[in-house]
Amino acid sequence: MRVIVVGAGLAGLAIANGLKKNNIPYVIVDRETAPRDRNWAITLGWALPLFQKLLPEDLYNSLHQCQPDPTLDAKVAGEKGILVRDGATGLEMNVARFPAIRRLNIQKTKRHLSTGIDVKYGKRLIDITINEGKDDDGLVTAHFDDGTSETGSLIVGADGGASQVRRWLLGDLAQQEALPCDFMNFSFTLPADIAVHLDKEMNPTVDVGAHPSNMYLGIFLLDKPDIDKPETWVFYILATWRLDDKNDRGSGKRLDELRSRMTGWFDLYKTVVENVPDDVEIKPDQLRIWKTKPWDNHQARVTLAGDAAHSMTFHRGQGGNLAIKDADEFVSSITAVKRGEKDIEDAVDAYDNGALLRSAEVEISRQASMAFLDYENFDKSPVFKMGISPAMKF
Ligand SMILES: Cc1cc2nc3c(=O)[nH]c(=O)nc-3n(C[C@H](O)[C@H](O)[C@H](O)COP(=O)(O)OP(=O)(O)OC[C@H]3O[C@@H](n4cnc5c(N)ncnc54)[C@H](O)[C@@H]3O)c2cc1C
Repeated sequence: MRVIVVGAGLAGLAIANGLKKNNIPYVIVDRETAPRDRNWAITLGWALPLFQKLLPEDLYNSLHQCQPDPTLDAKVAGEKGILVRDGATGLEMNVARFPAIRRLNIQKTKRHLSTGIDVKYGKRLIDITINEGKDDDGLVTAHFDDGTSETGSLIVGADGGASQVRRWLLGDLAQQEALPCDFMNFSFTLPADIAVHLDKEMNPTVDVGAHPSNMYLGIFLLDKPDIDKPETWVFYILATWRLDDKNDRGSGKRLDELRSRMTGWFDLYKTVVENVPDDVEIKPDQLRIWKTKPWDNHQARVTLAGDAAHSMTFHRGQGGNLAIKDADEFVSSITAVKRGEKDIEDAVDAYDNGALLRSAEVEISRQASMAFLDYENFDKSPVFKMGISPAMKF
């Protein structure tokens, strides 16, 4: 048994750690040669116990180092919960609480999870071949753009929302769908006095608003490189609003576009947006989802995990949790095969069925995202009804 993990994001690294912990041979590759410049933080709640199962004890116990604020206790974070405000008044509309929450800076987390894992970088998967009549370790080959390849028993495509492994499995059916909204995700620093004020006033985990102008905005802490120098603290903004015939994507400067939409927002958020440095870079972005379609796993030789298996919007904070759930299910299945308790085809079929069931969250998260842009009906949002609990019983 040799597993080829394609993609060293949250899902791929969680799988690699789990395989290593269970002494299952693997190789993990990623197309990147340097970390992507996009960064954000994720809220891990219900998947934390699964993460603990997958990671070596020391890595799990030092996860707080990946938090935007390393001193924030997971139980306190759970009590503070996910705060949704009325964007006009700043008053609380909803708080989703969980017994324990960890906010994790995604770049720091990927670095942390790579500890002791030999990720082969600079290997973009371009093709897969199924090998006939080979022994267990030679059943499938992954080919990379640098001309090299890896051969093993099974490929797990953990290569994100625009997965190439998914494209190999499903062709045009693998295409993502763009949601009809504008989207911004950018990070910035603030003058020290405003950074301190924001840090004091904002909910320490998630602090977002839904505005009567049918707009979503959230302001979050990303990092505190120097705890004593508030001018170094890094925050980020996520903002979405609906695009329709009357409301096209503007062609001007992105920060000006955002500022022009802040009329009527409550003071804290308005002040922050006013004080974002004028030269901040806001790259073009798009919310995309993929509603999972069943795939043929070629007799247990190719499967998918994480965003590759179900890519969703972030408004209910489920993508990362589900990536870890996939990793745990995948590692448990392969471990059972290695122990001789399961046949590999039955194990991977059962895993695939589970991933397909979990993908119900793609539509729930889409509804949550669009509900933020429909203020009148916002109280019907899945965020009100389900908070950040998983959509299904596990
Ligand atoms: C703004 C934002 C906020 C979010 N908030 C939350 C939250 O609060 N809670 C939550 O649970 N989730 C959240 N998520 C979702 C979460 O971040 C993702 O679901 C999770 O990171 C997906 O991990 P992944 O490993 O599946 O994919 P990725 O992290 O995208 O990793 C895929 C990896 O595959 C590599 N790759 C791609 N193509 C190839 C190829 N052809 N060959 C080799 N390598 C390749 C990429 O370089 C990348 O390293 C949020 C997402 C965003 C964008």
